[in-house]
Amino acid sequence: MSNRASVGWDAHRLLLLLVALALAVLAPRMARADDEEALIPPDSSYFARRVLKTAPILSLSHKITTTIQGITFDSNYDNGSLAGVASAGTNIFNCTIYVEPGELGNRQYQFRFRMTGVAGRSVTLNIDHTQNRRPVISINGGPFRRTTAAEAPTLTQLVFTFGASENTAEVAFFFPLGYQEIHDRVSALVAAGTGGTTEILGKSFQNRDLWLVTVTDPATTDTGKRRVWVHARAHAGEVTASHTMLGILEKALENSETGRRLRRYCIFNVVPTQNVDGVFLGLTRWDSQGIDPERQWPNPYRIPEVGLIKDKVDAFMAGPNPIEVALNLHSTVGDYADTFFFKHIRPSVTANFEVIQQRYIDALNNATPLFENLAPQTSQLSPNLFIESYFWNNWGEAVMAMTHEGHYYERVNSTAYLTDADYVALGRAMAEAMIEYFALPPLPSAVGEWAQY
Ligand SMILES: [Zn+2]
Repeated sequence: MSNRASVGWDAHRLLLLLVALALAVLAPRMARADDEEALIPPDSSYFARRVLKTAPILSLSHKITTTIQGITFDSNYDNGSLAGVASAGTNIFNCTIYVEPGELGNRQYQFRFRMTGVAGRSVTLNIDHTQNRRPVISINGGPFRRTTAAEAPTLTQLVFTFGASENTAEVAFFFPLGYQEIHDRVSALVAAGTGGTTEILGKSFQNRDLWLVTVTDPATTDTGKRRVWVHARAHAGEVTASHTMLGILEKALENSETGRRLRRYCIFNVVPTQNVDGVFLGLTRWDSQGIDPERQWPNPYRIPEVGLIKDKVDAFMAGPNPIEVALNLHSTVGDYADTFFFKHIRPSVTANFEVIQQRYIDALNNATPLFENLAPQTSQLSPNLFIESYFWNNWGEAVMAMTHEGHYYERVNSTAYLTDADYVALGRAMAEAMIEYFALPPLPSAVGEWAQY
Protein backbone atom coordinates (compact mmCIF):
# COMPACT_ATOMS: atom_id res chain seq x y z
CA MET A 1 0.00 0.00 0.00
CA SER A 2 2.63 2.46 1.09
CA ASN A 3 4.87 1.25 -1.71
CA ARG A 4 2.25 1.98 -4.38
CA ALA A 5 1.47 5.33 -2.79
CA SER A 6 5.16 6.19 -2.86
CA VAL A 7 5.49 5.35 -6.54
CA GLY A 8 2.42 7.47 -7.32
CA TRP A 9 3.82 10.39 -5.40
CA ASP A 10 7.13 10.30 -7.29
CA ALA A 11 5.28 10.23 -10.60
CA HIS A 12 3.18 13.12 -9.44
CA ARG A 13 6.24 15.15 -8.46
CA LEU A 14 7.86 14.42 -11.79
CA LEU A 15 4.74 15.63 -13.56
CA LEU A 16 4.70 18.80 -11.46
CA LEU A 17 8.34 19.39 -12.32
CA LEU A 18 7.62 18.99 -16.05
CA VAL A 19 4.69 21.38 -15.83
CA ALA A 20 6.85 23.90 -13.95
CA LEU A 21 9.59 23.61 -16.57
CA ALA A 22 7.11 24.08 -19.39
CA LEU A 23 5.66 27.14 -17.69
CA ALA A 24 9.14 28.56 -17.12
CA VAL A 25 9.94 28.23 -20.82
CA LEU A 26 6.68 29.94 -21.72
CA ALA A 27 6.91 32.62 -19.02
CA PRO A 28 7.63 35.65 -21.24
CA ARG A 29 4.55 34.95 -23.36
CA MET A 30 2.44 34.10 -20.37
CA ALA A 31 2.87 37.56 -18.94
CA ARG A 32 0.80 38.92 -21.80
CA ALA A 33 -2.41 37.07 -21.31
CA ASP A 34 -3.65 36.28 -17.87
CA ASP A 35 -5.78 33.35 -18.78
CA GLU A 36 -3.07 31.59 -20.70
CA GLU A 37 -5.76 29.93 -22.76
CA ALA A 38 -3.56 28.98 -25.66
CA LEU A 39 -0.76 27.75 -23.44
CA ILE A 40 -2.50 25.09 -21.43
CA PRO A 41 -2.52 21.62 -23.00
CA PRO A 42 -6.09 20.36 -23.38
CA ASP A 43 -5.37 17.19 -21.46
CA SER A 44 -7.69 16.71 -18.54
CA SER A 45 -6.32 13.35 -17.39
CA TYR A 46 -3.91 15.01 -14.98
CA PHE A 47 -6.76 16.85 -13.29
CA ALA A 48 -9.08 13.86 -13.23
CA ARG A 49 -6.47 11.61 -11.65
CA ARG A 50 -5.37 13.93 -8.90
CA VAL A 51 -6.87 13.39 -5.47
CA LEU A 52 -8.17 16.35 -3.54
CA LYS A 53 -5.98 17.22 -0.61
CA THR A 54 -7.52 17.04 2.81
CA ALA A 55 -5.80 20.19 4.07
CA PRO A 56 -4.59 23.41 2.46
CA ILE A 57 -1.00 23.28 1.29
CA LEU A 58 -0.49 26.91 2.22
CA SER A 59 0.89 28.06 5.49
CA LEU A 60 -0.03 31.55 6.61
CA SER A 61 3.46 32.84 5.95
CA HIS A 62 1.99 35.74 3.98
CA LYS A 63 0.21 37.04 7.10
CA ILE A 64 2.60 38.83 9.44
CA THR A 65 2.56 41.37 12.23
CA THR A 66 5.91 42.82 13.18
CA THR A 67 7.27 46.07 14.58
CA ILE A 68 10.52 47.46 13.19
CA GLN A 69 11.95 50.91 13.97
CA GLY A 70 8.70 51.80 15.73
CA ILE A 71 6.52 50.99 12.70
CA THR A 72 4.13 48.06 12.95
CA PHE A 73 3.70 46.21 9.68
CA ASP A 74 0.51 44.14 9.61
CA SER A 75 -0.82 41.86 6.87
CA ASN A 76 -2.69 39.53 9.21
CA TYR A 77 -6.23 40.37 8.15
CA ASP A 78 -8.80 39.65 5.43
CA ASN A 79 -7.05 40.00 2.04
CA GLY A 80 -3.80 41.12 3.69
CA SER A 81 -0.60 39.82 2.12
CA LEU A 82 3.02 40.48 2.97
CA ALA A 83 5.50 37.68 3.56
CA GLY A 84 8.21 39.61 5.33
CA VAL A 85 9.82 42.93 6.20
CA ALA A 86 13.33 43.75 7.36
CA SER A 87 15.24 46.88 8.26
CA ALA A 88 17.57 48.11 5.52
CA GLY A 89 18.70 51.34 7.21
CA THR A 90 16.98 54.17 9.01
CA ASN A 91 13.39 54.45 7.68
CA ILE A 92 14.23 51.99 4.89
CA PHE A 93 12.53 48.58 4.77
CA ASN A 94 12.91 45.55 2.55
CA CYS A 95 9.47 44.06 1.96
CA THR A 96 9.05 40.52 0.67
CA ILE A 97 5.89 39.74 -1.23
CA TYR A 98 4.40 36.29 -0.94
CA VAL A 99 5.38 33.71 -3.53
CA GLU A 100 2.31 31.56 -3.91
CA PRO A 101 2.85 27.89 -4.72
CA GLY A 102 0.44 26.06 -6.97
CA GLU A 103 0.26 22.92 -9.03
CA LEU A 104 0.72 25.04 -12.17
CA GLY A 105 3.64 26.97 -10.70
CA ASN A 106 4.37 29.94 -8.48
CA ARG A 107 2.62 33.30 -8.79
CA GLN A 108 3.40 36.59 -7.10
CA TYR A 109 2.43 40.21 -7.33
CA GLN A 110 -0.29 40.71 -4.76
CA PHE A 111 0.45 42.68 -1.58
CA ARG A 112 -1.65 44.51 0.96
CA PHE A 113 -0.56 45.63 4.42
CA ARG A 114 -0.90 48.35 7.02
CA MET A 115 1.83 50.42 8.60
CA THR A 116 1.14 52.08 11.96
CA GLY A 117 3.50 54.58 13.55
CA VAL A 118 4.49 56.47 10.40
CA ALA A 119 3.42 60.00 11.47
CA GLY A 120 5.95 62.66 10.54
CA ARG A 121 8.31 60.15 8.93
CA SER A 122 9.67 59.62 5.46
CA VAL A 123 9.57 55.91 4.72
CA THR A 124 11.19 54.00 1.89
CA LEU A 125 9.84 50.55 1.05
CA ASN A 126 11.86 48.29 -1.20
CA ILE A 127 9.04 46.22 -2.70
CA ASP A 128 8.52 44.61 -6.08
CA HIS A 129 5.62 46.24 -7.94
CA THR A 130 6.86 45.41 -11.43
CA GLN A 131 3.34 44.43 -12.54
CA ASN A 132 1.83 47.76 -11.48
CA ARG A 133 3.83 50.95 -11.77
CA ARG A 134 1.59 52.84 -9.39
CA PRO A 135 0.27 50.80 -6.48
CA VAL A 136 -2.29 52.41 -4.15
CA ILE A 137 -2.23 53.90 -0.66
CA SER A 138 -4.82 54.81 1.95
CA ILE A 139 -3.98 57.23 4.77
CA ASN A 140 -5.67 56.93 8.19
CA GLY A 141 -8.32 54.58 6.77
CA GLY A 142 -9.38 56.98 4.00
CA PRO A 143 -10.03 56.04 0.39
CA PHE A 144 -7.27 54.43 -1.61
CA ARG A 145 -5.56 56.48 -4.31
CA ARG A 146 -2.89 55.74 -6.87
CA THR A 147 0.65 56.55 -5.73
CA THR A 148 2.29 59.49 -7.47
CA ALA A 149 5.35 59.31 -9.72
CA ALA A 150 7.43 60.66 -6.82
CA GLU A 151 6.04 58.01 -4.47
CA ALA A 152 6.78 55.21 -6.95
CA PRO A 153 10.15 56.28 -8.39
CA THR A 154 11.13 52.77 -9.54
CA LEU A 155 9.41 49.41 -10.02
CA THR A 156 10.97 48.13 -6.81
CA GLN A 157 10.55 51.10 -4.52
CA LEU A 158 7.83 53.15 -2.83
CA VAL A 159 8.67 56.36 -0.94
CA PHE A 160 6.17 58.09 1.34
CA THR A 161 6.41 61.24 3.43
CA PHE A 162 3.72 61.30 6.10
CA GLY A 163 2.33 64.37 7.87
CA ALA A 164 2.19 64.72 11.63
CA SER A 165 -1.42 63.48 11.75
CA GLU A 166 -0.89 60.66 9.28
CA ASN A 167 -0.01 57.76 11.56
CA THR A 168 -1.56 54.83 9.67
CA ALA A 169 -1.14 53.92 6.03
CA GLU A 170 -2.37 50.91 4.08
CA VAL A 171 -0.47 50.01 0.92
CA ALA A 172 -1.82 47.65 -1.73
CA PHE A 173 -1.11 46.43 -5.24
CA PHE A 174 -4.38 47.79 -6.66
CA PHE A 175 -7.56 49.23 -5.06
CA PRO A 176 -8.18 46.23 -2.80
CA LEU A 177 -11.42 44.47 -1.93
CA GLY A 178 -11.34 41.58 0.52
CA TYR A 179 -13.87 38.85 1.23
CA GLN A 180 -15.82 40.83 3.86
CA GLU A 181 -15.43 44.14 2.03
CA ILE A 182 -17.05 42.69 -1.10
CA HIS A 183 -19.80 41.16 1.02
CA ASP A 184 -20.46 44.55 2.63
CA ARG A 185 -20.42 46.48 -0.66
CA VAL A 186 -22.76 43.99 -2.34
CA SER A 187 -25.10 43.96 0.68
CA ALA A 188 -25.28 47.75 0.66
CA LEU A 189 -26.08 47.81 -3.06
CA VAL A 190 -28.83 45.20 -2.67
CA ALA A 191 -30.28 47.02 0.36
CA ALA A 192 -30.33 50.39 -1.40
CA GLY A 193 -31.45 49.11 -4.79
CA THR A 194 -34.51 47.46 -6.24
CA GLY A 195 -35.15 43.83 -7.13
CA GLY A 196 -32.07 42.22 -5.59
CA THR A 197 -32.05 39.00 -3.58
CA THR A 198 -29.16 36.94 -2.27
CA GLU A 199 -28.56 33.30 -1.52
CA ILE A 200 -25.65 31.19 -0.42
CA LEU A 201 -24.80 28.50 -2.95
CA GLY A 202 -22.67 26.64 -0.45
CA LYS A 203 -19.33 26.63 1.31
CA SER A 204 -15.83 26.93 -0.06
CA PHE A 205 -13.03 24.51 0.74
CA GLN A 206 -12.17 26.60 3.81
CA ASN A 207 -15.85 26.95 4.71
CA ARG A 208 -16.50 30.48 3.48
CA ASP A 209 -19.78 31.47 1.86
CA LEU A 210 -20.12 31.32 -1.91
CA TRP A 211 -22.74 33.95 -2.69
CA LEU A 212 -25.16 34.47 -5.52
CA VAL A 213 -27.02 37.74 -6.09
CA THR A 214 -30.08 37.76 -8.33
CA VAL A 215 -31.54 40.96 -9.74
CA THR A 216 -34.82 41.20 -11.61
CA ASP A 217 -38.16 42.98 -11.38
CA PRO A 218 -40.20 40.88 -8.93
CA ALA A 219 -43.44 42.53 -10.04
CA THR A 220 -43.31 41.04 -13.52
CA THR A 221 -43.36 37.40 -14.50
CA ASP A 222 -40.10 35.84 -15.60
CA THR A 223 -41.63 34.74 -18.90
CA GLY A 224 -39.37 35.81 -21.72
CA LYS A 225 -36.76 37.41 -19.47
CA ARG A 226 -33.15 37.09 -20.65
CA ARG A 227 -30.80 35.53 -18.10
CA VAL A 228 -27.32 37.03 -17.64
CA TRP A 229 -24.72 35.17 -15.60
CA VAL A 230 -21.69 36.97 -14.14
CA HIS A 231 -18.94 35.64 -11.92
CA ALA A 232 -15.86 37.48 -10.72
CA ARG A 233 -12.53 36.80 -9.08
CA ALA A 234 -11.89 33.18 -10.01
CA HIS A 235 -8.31 34.34 -9.60
CA ALA A 236 -7.73 35.74 -6.15
CA GLY A 237 -5.70 38.87 -6.83
CA GLU A 238 -7.61 40.07 -9.89
CA VAL A 239 -9.46 42.83 -8.10
CA THR A 240 -10.47 44.88 -11.16
CA ALA A 241 -13.01 42.07 -11.62
CA SER A 242 -14.63 42.91 -8.29
CA HIS A 243 -14.99 46.61 -9.13
CA THR A 244 -16.45 45.70 -12.53
CA MET A 245 -18.86 43.25 -10.88
CA LEU A 246 -19.97 45.98 -8.45
CA GLY A 247 -20.68 48.27 -11.41
CA ILE A 248 -22.85 45.62 -13.08
CA LEU A 249 -24.85 45.17 -9.87
CA GLU A 250 -25.09 48.92 -9.31
CA LYS A 251 -26.60 49.49 -12.75
CA ALA A 252 -28.94 46.50 -12.55
CA LEU A 253 -30.22 47.57 -9.12
CA GLU A 254 -30.46 51.31 -9.59
CA ASN A 255 -33.62 53.38 -9.65
CA SER A 256 -33.35 54.73 -13.18
CA GLU A 257 -35.09 54.04 -16.45
CA THR A 258 -32.15 51.92 -17.56
CA GLY A 259 -32.19 49.99 -14.30
CA ARG A 260 -35.94 49.41 -14.51
CA ARG A 261 -35.66 48.33 -18.13
CA LEU A 262 -32.88 45.86 -17.36
CA ARG A 263 -34.86 44.39 -14.48
CA ARG A 264 -38.06 44.24 -16.50
CA TYR A 265 -36.49 42.21 -19.31
CA CYS A 266 -33.50 40.49 -17.71
CA ILE A 267 -32.53 38.32 -14.78
CA PHE A 268 -28.99 38.96 -13.54
CA ASN A 269 -27.27 36.20 -11.57
CA VAL A 270 -23.98 37.39 -10.11
CA VAL A 271 -21.43 35.42 -8.11
CA PRO A 272 -19.52 38.33 -6.53
CA THR A 273 -16.47 36.26 -5.60
CA GLN A 274 -15.69 32.77 -6.81
CA ASN A 275 -12.31 32.25 -5.12
CA VAL A 276 -13.41 33.37 -1.66
CA ASP A 277 -10.58 31.58 0.14
CA GLY A 278 -7.87 32.97 -2.12
CA VAL A 279 -9.26 36.48 -1.72
CA PHE A 280 -9.33 36.18 2.06
CA LEU A 281 -5.80 34.80 2.12
CA GLY A 282 -4.53 37.65 -0.07
CA LEU A 283 -3.31 35.41 -2.88
CA THR A 284 -2.42 36.40 -6.43
CA ARG A 285 -4.07 33.60 -8.37
CA TRP A 286 -4.73 30.12 -6.98
CA ASP A 287 -7.13 28.89 -4.33
CA SER A 288 -6.22 27.83 -0.79
CA GLN A 289 -4.96 24.47 -2.08
CA GLY A 290 -2.83 25.88 -4.88
CA ILE A 291 -5.40 24.80 -7.48
CA ASP A 292 -6.46 27.01 -10.39
CA PRO A 293 -10.23 27.55 -9.92
CA GLU A 294 -10.53 28.69 -13.53
CA ARG A 295 -9.48 25.44 -15.06
CA GLN A 296 -11.42 22.69 -13.25
CA TRP A 297 -14.28 22.20 -15.68
CA PRO A 298 -13.11 18.74 -16.83
CA ASN A 299 -13.69 17.68 -13.20
CA PRO A 300 -15.83 20.43 -11.62
CA TYR A 301 -16.43 18.70 -8.30
CA ARG A 302 -12.73 18.61 -7.57
CA ILE A 303 -13.14 21.88 -5.65
CA PRO A 304 -16.42 22.95 -4.06
CA GLU A 305 -16.55 26.45 -5.59
CA VAL A 306 -16.63 25.14 -9.16
CA GLY A 307 -18.99 22.28 -8.34
CA LEU A 308 -21.47 24.69 -6.74
CA ILE A 309 -21.34 27.00 -9.74
CA LYS A 310 -21.83 24.08 -12.13
CA ASP A 311 -24.90 22.88 -10.22
CA LYS A 312 -26.44 26.36 -10.38
CA VAL A 313 -25.62 26.78 -14.07
CA ASP A 314 -27.12 23.36 -14.84
CA ALA A 315 -30.30 24.24 -12.96
CA PHE A 316 -30.70 27.51 -14.86
CA MET A 317 -30.02 25.84 -18.20
CA ALA A 318 -32.70 23.24 -17.49
CA GLY A 319 -35.24 25.91 -16.54
CA PRO A 320 -37.54 28.21 -18.53
CA ASN A 321 -35.03 31.10 -18.62
CA PRO A 322 -31.69 29.56 -19.57
CA ILE A 323 -28.51 31.64 -19.38
CA GLU A 324 -27.93 33.56 -22.64
CA VAL A 325 -24.93 35.68 -21.63
CA ALA A 326 -22.13 34.59 -19.27
CA LEU A 327 -19.38 37.03 -18.32
CA ASN A 328 -16.28 35.72 -16.54
CA LEU A 329 -14.45 38.70 -14.99
CA HIS A 330 -10.66 38.73 -14.57
CA SER A 331 -7.62 41.02 -14.48
CA THR A 332 -4.32 40.73 -16.26
CA VAL A 333 -0.91 42.36 -16.15
CA GLY A 334 0.69 44.30 -18.99
CA ASP A 335 0.60 47.72 -20.57
CA TYR A 336 -2.55 47.21 -22.62
CA ALA A 337 -4.18 50.04 -24.54
CA ASP A 338 -7.61 48.90 -23.36
CA THR A 339 -9.33 46.22 -21.36
CA PHE A 340 -10.36 43.28 -23.50
CA PHE A 341 -12.41 40.17 -24.07
CA PHE A 342 -11.04 36.83 -25.21
CA LYS A 343 -13.18 36.35 -28.28
CA HIS A 344 -13.21 32.67 -29.24
CA ILE A 345 -12.56 32.06 -32.90
CA ARG A 346 -12.77 29.35 -35.53
CA PRO A 347 -12.19 26.46 -35.66
CA SER A 348 -12.90 26.13 -31.93
CA VAL A 349 -16.30 27.82 -32.43
CA THR A 350 -18.49 28.64 -35.42
CA ALA A 351 -18.29 31.73 -37.61
CA ASN A 352 -21.70 32.72 -36.34
CA PHE A 353 -20.52 32.50 -32.73
CA GLU A 354 -17.72 34.93 -33.56
CA VAL A 355 -20.41 37.33 -34.78
CA ILE A 356 -22.47 36.78 -31.63
CA GLN A 357 -19.49 37.56 -29.38
CA GLN A 358 -18.58 40.62 -31.44
CA ARG A 359 -22.11 41.96 -31.07
CA TYR A 360 -21.66 42.14 -27.30
CA ILE A 361 -18.17 43.63 -27.62
CA ASP A 362 -19.59 46.31 -29.91
CA ALA A 363 -22.52 46.92 -27.58
CA LEU A 364 -20.12 47.61 -24.71
CA ASN A 365 -18.07 49.86 -26.95
CA ASN A 366 -21.23 51.84 -27.70
CA ALA A 367 -22.20 52.03 -24.03
CA THR A 368 -19.08 53.74 -22.63
CA PRO A 369 -16.05 55.85 -23.56
CA LEU A 370 -14.05 53.65 -21.18
CA PHE A 371 -13.98 50.79 -23.69
CA GLU A 372 -12.98 51.14 -27.34
CA ASN A 373 -11.82 47.56 -28.01
CA LEU A 374 -8.32 48.87 -28.76
CA ALA A 375 -6.60 45.70 -27.50
CA PRO A 376 -8.79 42.88 -28.81
CA GLN A 377 -7.66 39.34 -28.02
CA THR A 378 -8.76 36.08 -29.54
CA SER A 379 -8.39 32.51 -28.43
CA GLN A 380 -9.05 29.01 -29.58
CA LEU A 381 -11.49 27.87 -26.95
CA SER A 382 -10.08 25.00 -24.93
CA PRO A 383 -11.99 21.76 -25.51
CA ASN A 384 -12.89 21.46 -21.84
CA LEU A 385 -10.90 23.54 -19.33
CA PHE A 386 -12.98 26.68 -18.86
CA ILE A 387 -16.57 27.51 -18.01
CA GLU A 388 -16.79 28.91 -21.56
CA SER A 389 -15.85 25.42 -22.79
CA TYR A 390 -18.61 23.94 -20.66
CA PHE A 391 -21.21 26.33 -22.09
CA TRP A 392 -20.03 25.77 -25.65
CA ASN A 393 -19.91 21.98 -25.40
CA ASN A 394 -23.40 21.73 -23.96
CA TRP A 395 -25.34 24.66 -25.42
CA GLY A 396 -23.27 26.00 -28.31
CA GLU A 397 -24.35 29.34 -29.73
CA ALA A 398 -27.20 29.64 -27.22
CA VAL A 399 -24.84 31.04 -24.57
CA MET A 400 -22.57 34.00 -25.35
CA ALA A 401 -19.85 33.21 -22.80
CA MET A 402 -16.68 35.29 -22.67
CA THR A 403 -13.88 36.25 -20.29
CA HIS A 404 -13.16 39.94 -19.76
CA GLU A 405 -9.75 41.11 -18.60
CA GLY A 406 -9.17 44.34 -16.75
CA HIS A 407 -5.61 45.55 -16.13
CA TYR A 408 -3.71 47.88 -13.84
CA TYR A 409 -2.36 50.27 -16.44
CA GLU A 410 -3.71 53.42 -18.10
CA ARG A 411 -7.23 54.37 -19.05
CA VAL A 412 -8.12 53.95 -22.73
CA ASN A 413 -7.22 57.04 -24.80
CA SER A 414 -5.52 58.59 -21.75
CA THR A 415 -2.31 58.53 -19.73
CA ALA A 416 -4.30 58.59 -16.48
CA TYR A 417 -3.94 55.38 -14.52
CA LEU A 418 -7.12 53.32 -14.19
CA THR A 419 -8.91 53.49 -10.85
CA ASP A 420 -11.52 51.50 -8.94
CA ALA A 421 -14.16 54.02 -10.09
CA ASP A 422 -13.23 53.44 -13.73
CA TYR A 423 -13.93 49.73 -13.35
CA VAL A 424 -17.25 50.40 -11.62
CA ALA A 425 -18.17 52.63 -14.57
CA LEU A 426 -17.08 49.92 -16.99
CA GLY A 427 -19.24 47.41 -15.14
CA ARG A 428 -22.24 49.73 -15.30
CA ALA A 429 -21.74 49.86 -19.06
CA MET A 430 -21.49 46.06 -19.26
CA ALA A 431 -24.99 45.88 -17.78
CA GLU A 432 -26.32 48.67 -19.96
CA ALA A 433 -24.90 46.95 -23.05
CA MET A 434 -27.50 44.22 -22.57
CA ILE A 435 -30.09 46.65 -23.92
CA GLU A 436 -28.37 46.79 -27.31
CA TYR A 437 -27.21 43.17 -27.29
CA PHE A 438 -30.69 41.78 -26.62
CA ALA A 439 -32.47 44.65 -28.40
CA LEU A 440 -34.62 45.06 -25.30
CA PRO A 441 -37.91 46.89 -25.89
CA PRO A 442 -38.68 50.11 -24.05
CA LEU A 443 -40.55 49.92 -20.76
CA PRO A 444 -44.24 49.14 -21.25
CA SER A 445 -45.24 52.18 -19.21
CA ALA A 446 -43.33 54.47 -21.54
CA VAL A 447 -45.07 52.89 -24.53
CA GLY A 448 -48.40 53.33 -22.77
CA GLU A 449 -47.81 57.01 -22.07
CA TRP A 450 -46.70 57.62 -25.63
CA ALA A 451 -49.74 55.76 -26.99
CA GLN A 452 -52.04 58.16 -25.17
CA TYR A 453 -51.06 61.05 -27.45
ZN1 LIG B 1 -7.64 35.48 -14.25
